[in-house]
Amino acid sequence: MRKATVLLAVLLSCVSAAYGQAPSAANASLTVIRAGSLIDGQADAPTKDQLIFVRGHYVEKILGGNTPIPADAKIIDLSSATVLPGLIDSHTHIFLWGEDPGKGGYDANILRAGIALRAARATYACRRALEQGFTTLRDVETEGAGYGDVEIREAIQEGTIPGPRLFCATRGISSTAGYNLEGYAPELVMPKGVQIIDGPVEARKAAREQLDQGADWIKVYMTHRSWLDREGRLLSQPTLTVEELRAIVDEAHGWGKKVACHAYNGIGLQRGLDGGCDSIEHGLEMTDAQIEQMARQGTWYCPTISVYYSDWAPEDTPAGKRDRARALVHETTFREALKVRLKIVYGTDVGGFPWQESEAQEFRRMVTLGMSPMDAIRSATSRPAEMLDSQGLLGVIAPGAYADVIAVRGDPLKDIGELENVKFVMKDGLVYKNELASK
Ligand SMILES: [Zn+2]
Repeated sequence: MRKATVLLAVLLSCVSAAYGQAPSAANASLTVIRAGSLIDGQADAPTKDQLIFVRGHYVEKILGGNTPIPADAKIIDLSSATVLPGLIDSHTHIFLWGEDPGKGGYDANILRAGIALRAARATYACRRALEQGFTTLRDVETEGAGYGDVEIREAIQEGTIPGPRLFCATRGISSTAGYNLEGYAPELVMPKGVQIIDGPVEARKAAREQLDQGADWIKVYMTHRSWLDREGRLLSQPTLTVEELRAIVDEAHGWGKKVACHAYNGIGLQRGLDGGCDSIEHGLEMTDAQIEQMARQGTWYCPTISVYYSDWAPEDTPAGKRDRARALVHETTFREALKVRLKIVYGTDVGGFPWQESEAQEFRRMVTLGMSPMDAIRSATSRPAEMLDSQGLLGVIAPGAYADVIAVRGDPLKDIGELENVKFVMKDGLVYKNELASK
């Protein structure tokens, strides 16, 4: 059985290698998109009445609306719509199916679903993301589903299932006492949602294993549990040491890969910064000095605001008070990060809330808290493309970029909520959704 799996993996990687080859420009078919308004992901202002020439998988050129269109071109009329690059969600969990306490919370994901059910749900998640206009995800660990993300990535690349481009973090890394499942009888050996390590040697080994199995990023947890102290201040339990993190970062950087650090605040977040992480995930509460250190080190900030408004415990309980305090400090930190122009990327933590909910709801949160609509759009397009070392290829509509194109009916610069209603999705030059075709 195991041998068969290995053989299949080898076979799939051959398919994906073939898929990765660019088609020769000469014989690839031409599609021309007529864009009423074009937000290209980079520029400060939209342009009107543009023609986007798509040759095969790529954007070939962008010309004014009066340019003659070759007779053999397929024309897609989006002249009454706003056209944007495919969106990038930099913090997802395709293998998580919500954490609603009424449905068993986080633990039910691992205890009540086998790997086939989890793969089916991940398949659904990928389709959902794509239909909502998210053509790229940085999926930051599988929550106990091993290297399943790498295999879903293969299935998408070979065309077996529809889905976004996936940047996979595989298993995630934390320390003993640093992740769920927990709270069970001490005699029981419970499965964990991450790979548990203690000490720099184990840390480096885990990073090597994950990179060996196809991780595009390494995800580490620098904090775990959180609660309020007697003064009502948020405390979060630190997990990895600086030495452990440095071993992981050193290994990942050696492979030309990056490290995403889940961190709420305090000592754990400080260790994340001192250990050289590339992105801070959540960063609920950061001191001025920590924000300054991020700016100095060029650390990316992926705040994931919306998820901290779901599944609040009742108001009069310690957990309920903590849940409300978390949301409050997060807003302050986000505003401060905006003020000093930290490098912010759009991330939702979807999976932590159900995939049936809108993945675009984070835009509204960001704009409500003071981000300009254009900056919010760039946080989900050209900015994460830079973080993902894919500048010019992803998150932009420009010559040479992948033809990942979406459209909405109205103007998202006037009403950012338009992005919750994406009507057209093209990924890699293929149309997955077009509700604008006939009016
Ligand atoms: Zn997460």
